[in-house]
Amino acid sequence: MQFCFEMDQETWKKAFATFCPRCVVRLFCHDWKVLKMSEKDIVNFLAENNDEQIETSFLEIEQRRSLQVTELQNGNGDEMNATTDFLCISCLGILMTPFLEDCSQKVAETVANDNYTFNRFQCFYFLPHQLFVSDKVSQDTAKQLFGVNAVENEAHDVKEIFKILMEPLVTAKLKVPRSIDANFEIAINISHREAEKKVLPVMKSKSPRSFTHGKGKHPAKRLKPLDGVSIAQVKHAISKISVEELREMSSSLSQPCKVEAIQLNHSSVYVGGRYNKYSRTLPQTPWIIDGKRKLENSVQEFLGGPIKDAFRADGYNFSSSGREDVDVRMLGTGRPYLIELINPRFPSVPQAKILEIEKKINEQTSDISSSGLQIVSKTDCKRLKEGEEEKTKSYYALCRFIHPPRQTQLEKLGQLKDLTDVEIKQTTPVRVLHRRPLAVRIRTIHKISLRGFDDNKQFFKLELSTQAGTYIKEFVHSDFGRTSPSLRDFVDADVDIIELDVQSVDVVWPPGFK
Ligand SMILES: [Zn+2]
Repeated sequence: MQFCFEMDQETWKKAFATFCPRCVVRLFCHDWKVLKMSEKDIVNFLAENNDEQIETSFLEIEQRRSLQVTELQNGNGDEMNATTDFLCISCLGILMTPFLEDCSQKVAETVANDNYTFNRFQCFYFLPHQLFVSDKVSQDTAKQLFGVNAVENEAHDVKEIFKILMEPLVTAKLKVPRSIDANFEIAINISHREAEKKVLPVMKSKSPRSFTHGKGKHPAKRLKPLDGVSIAQVKHAISKISVEELREMSSSLSQPCKVEAIQLNHSSVYVGGRYNKYSRTLPQTPWIIDGKRKLENSVQEFLGGPIKDAFRADGYNFSSSGREDVDVRMLGTGRPYLIELINPRFPSVPQAKILEIEKKINEQTSDISSSGLQIVSKTDCKRLKEGEEEKTKSYYALCRFIHPPRQTQLEKLGQLKDLTDVEIKQTTPVRVLHRRPLAVRIRTIHKISLRGFDDNKQFFKLELSTQAGTYIKEFVHSDFGRTSPSLRDFVDADVDIIELDVQSVDVVWPPGFK
């Protein structure tokens, strides 16, 4: 064991009055076996390997340290005014047993309160930037205190040790293993408010770099550091400031770190299905014009609400394979849709329960229905939007002649069945110009056939099969010539569309459902 230095009792006392036992061995670059010991065992280890009186030196300051433990446990926000007799100037308390216990307990309580269901977890740690300052200062102090030779190598990083000590504590409390690909994420935010008020502003003023927070991507996007300053900025500032100045800045700090927040997040769960819409007054998504809601309900809310509740999610995102207008019905086997559930507390809902959710959706209203509901993978989600342009959709359109039709016009209507794969040009329709860019799109009408007349032969029903994205209403009435050729051109008469139904959306979605 490479741990042997000649220090007198006075120096040991100074060491324990300045650093916690773990930081004493940390600053001597001791091995992990010792670093992971309890503080008491570390002191015993030092006594056994050096001088038995080391334990006496430690016990002398332990009384004062226990005072600090009481402060920590009672600290309810007014810790800025509390006084403590001992603060490890190196780890600012976070490597000390009471803090580790307190922190892991808070994690367990927060998780229990939020009632998440999970079988693995991963942790992210946001530690106060002051630790970088303290580390630089304490390494220098250690050199002065123990002699230059004692601190030969760089000490283990406080954050690294904190992580290694926390993980078994959290694992034991949550009773599930940690895994780097777990979907349940715990962010532990530790703050040092005193340093944020006293040290950070000085560092900001001394660093030429901007201290605004960068856009670095954290693996858990919803979990973020709270103080909004990047590690790179702090390290840069420290490199520009002398150890003496850093020591001066930190000398007034008297408080330990604090568990500021425990943030929890479960990665998104995706649910897919198909919906039918039987109403001509129901928009697909909430219809808001100039900040005012126009209609009370929407397909999205009928579907998303019960699913979100069942998974106990914070929210959801709705997407679908295309969309129909508010006055268009969605018939046949329905339209594929996807709900992304944000931060679900109950992520693994069994299929039997999913069927119950679907039943609930369908019992809310006769305006819509859902079928094929199931949990889908992230890979499957991409397939919903793939080949959007190539898909085929079929429609029933109820149309009318504006003037009583002539025989030739009726004959032309009958001849429509001979048209196959006709290309049409559609300039962005007038009705959607306010939200879509002006463009000319080429679309294909695969088939049109006449399905019947009313007694006066003024109203007629067409079945159309077209490329996805075709504006059917405009194809019928020509939109003042902006769609060409149009049905109006084919039958050589003024025609209009009365009602439209989507009959099928030919996409295999969700997987296995056609
Ligand atoms: Zn320490």
